[in-house]
Amino acid sequence: MSLPVVAIVGRPNVGKSTLFNRILGRSLAVVDDLPGITRDRLYARVEWTGAAFLLIDTGGWVPEGGDPMDGRILDQVFRAVEECDLVLFLVDVRAGLTPHDAEIARHLLRTGRPHLLAANKVDSERILPDAAEFASLGLGGSPHAISATEGRGIGDLLDEVVARIPRRAAAEAETGEIRIAVVGRPNVGKSSIVNRLLGEDRMIVHEAPGTTRDAIDAPLRYHGRRMVIVDTAGIRRRLAAHPNFEFYAMLRALRSLESADAALLVLDATAPLTRQDQRIARMIDDAGRPCVWAFNKWDLVEKSEKTADRLLKGARQTIAMQDYAPAEFVSALTVQRISRIPERILEVYAGSRQEIATPELNACIRRAIERNPPRAVKGERPLKIYYATQVRTAPPTISLFVNKAQRLAASYERYLARELRAAFGFAGSPIRLQVRTSR
Ligand code: GDP
Ligand code: GDP
Repeated sequence: MSLPVVAIVGRPNVGKSTLFNRILGRSLAVVDDLPGITRDRLYARVEWTGAAFLLIDTGGWVPEGGDPMDGRILDQVFRAVEECDLVLFLVDVRAGLTPHDAEIARHLLRTGRPHLLAANKVDSERILPDAAEFASLGLGGSPHAISATEGRGIGDLLDEVVARIPRRAAAEAETGEIRIAVVGRPNVGKSSIVNRLLGEDRMIVHEAPGTTRDAIDAPLRYHGRRMVIVDTAGIRRRLAAHPNFEFYAMLRALRSLESADAALLVLDATAPLTRQDQRIARMIDDAGRPCVWAFNKWDLVEKSEKTADRLLKGARQTIAMQDYAPAEFVSALTVQRISRIPERILEVYAGSRQEIATPELNACIRRAIERNPPRAVKGERPLKIYYATQVRTAPPTISLFVNKAQRLAASYERYLARELRAAFGFAGSPIRLQVRTSR
């Protein structure tokens, strides 16, 4: 089962992004790349009293220069909201209700999604939401009074959120199949590749209306290994064309990543990489999934000997956080090298499950430190790394015990991760380091 999704919805300036960041600050460890939690960070994995969910700030999905209350944009938001398990509808007590709030409430009622109304900016006891006014929204119940800036009522709100979302299944049965999420921006050729992988006769038709929430998983066999492409319905679903607004597609990709073991990131070999490609790559990395890059439409590229190298080199710079992903240059049209994809997926799947014995791990760390010791900061005792041990796989996660965790610079952490990768491979998989202070 994938993680439940909770979306914060509301008109501009009610405090969606403030609330989003406040929840991130309150809940358990969520974001991996901490610096600059901004609007760039559109979703996060949140844990509260043992329950986990994905929190999305829909305000972040409005295209640059777009009007968030534009009907078309609202439609997109609400289409995506149909995919959510809970909508957190935020209004502003200080500004009072506006026709826009009423419009959002109407949309919400139409989708029939479970929702929770929260009245924000209740900074003190003296400001109280006017119950009658909120009743006019027709959503029933009284709103949760919160203040995102003051942190009031946030714990209660989160309690209510986790009470309302489905609990994640405790342990998933080990089925032995490898679940693959095929992701990438629109038109790169995801469905074409999926059809090739599955065989044309099993082409998946566009889903009928009203079945939007059904994720259709399609099995495929590769040299006796069972693999499953997750949510083929989501891959095929066509959106009303909107060049830079792909809320729905992103949400779908997020969910499929959550329930997958490995990702196939489809890139367009004929076009420059975009921010959206970077974003999707980051989503994969955040989810901790191993990844294969498929540069598709290779048939259209005018090639010399160096074309593939050059393309790959550029991509390794643009999508630096995932520079470990193996790449294939494929064509869904001519079927060139499509059969290499399952092979590569097997490799990265294995990479994400690799286990390194503690002595080897420590020998590697020791060598890395000898070659390039952590730089001493003036006036502080030098950083000492005592011990390393792998605490889990998928993704490989290594605990580093040091004399003072804060003293380990992010750049040095990246250096150690590179050294570990050079020594052990972890093909195509992200690596996590957990730095712990130990006495
Ligand atoms: P968004 O457009 O819905 O994401 O709204 P923002 O999170 O950007 O907030 C809009 C404005 O409301 C900002 O100036 C926030 O500082 C302010 N704001 C957000 N939450 C609160 C709150 O609880 N109390 C008060 N007084 N101001 C708030
Ligand atoms: P999706 O939106 O990522 O699922 O992309 P589609 O699979 O729908 O493909 C988008 C367009 O690119 C369609 O017109 C495809 O026929 C075309 N296309 C997909 N793969 C290839 C390829 O390898 N070569 C060429 N020339 N066209 C392709």
